[in-house]
Amino acid sequence: MIPGLTSGAAVNSEIPAERLRVAGITPFTTIDFPGRLSAVAFLQGCPWKCVYCQNPWMQSREFTEGLEHASWEDLVRLLERRRGLLDGVVFSGGEPCADPALPAALKAVREMGFQTGLHTGGAYPRRLEEVIGLLDWVGFDAKAPPEDEAAWQRVTGVPGSAAHWLESFRILKASGVPFECRTTAHPDYLPETDLLRTARWLAEHGAEDFALQICRRPPGVLFAPLPAVGSDYPSKEVRSELVRLFKHFTERRND
Ligand code: SF4
Repeated sequence: MIPGLTSGAAVNSEIPAERLRVAGITPFTTIDFPGRLSAVAFLQGCPWKCVYCQNPWMQSREFTEGLEHASWEDLVRLLERRRGLLDGVVFSGGEPCADPALPAALKAVREMGFQTGLHTGGAYPRRLEEVIGLLDWVGFDAKAPPEDEAAWQRVTGVPGSAAHWLESFRILKASGVPFECRTTAHPDYLPETDLLRTARWLAEHGAEDFALQICRRPPGVLFAPLPAVGSDYPSKEVRSELVRLFKHFTERRND
């Protein structure tokens, strides 16, 4: 038996880690888990259909036929080989909280001596609540002004997205687990006024780390392609305001 393979089964969930649907693994990254050398496990499945989604084949919980995927066993083998070289594992997606085996997987990864990170859009507050005590850091997407359901639906294509996100934010904030909010922005679905409303709400509600990810060359796989974004989005004034609002502000290219 591979060490650690079953040790995390059934934390608050009856679903064992072996059932985790791992679409792919990045064996080494310095940028996905701040301050740590980490591996990233991308989990299959997401309930949303974001206008800028670059991985639409990961939205279904089923693996795409003919497309190679990884497994929990692959992740455990990688961690066994990289003991002492990696600090942690980030579970990303898709939406990792869509996977009922996530709690067992996080527990097993911690038992193997690694730290744990999560990238989530907040679509599943109950699952987040279940796993929050097993996390060392969270990257939390903020897709639109938090209390504007219509703006959220324009981005995710799914009614009720904002309500789920708000509940997830409340859980995350109350937990004390360090987190970064990140917004993937394009003027077609997030005009500057909405970008600022999003950022101001986050700052007012205690977010200290914020990353702006500008959607410069979106593939437009699901919807009509979004046009290229000029360097004037967002404006200098909006950028200065973002820098002022947060303790740590980062701008990333997303192309
Ligand atoms: S939350 Fe992420 S994986 Fe899900 S549809 Fe949006 S961009 Fe794609």
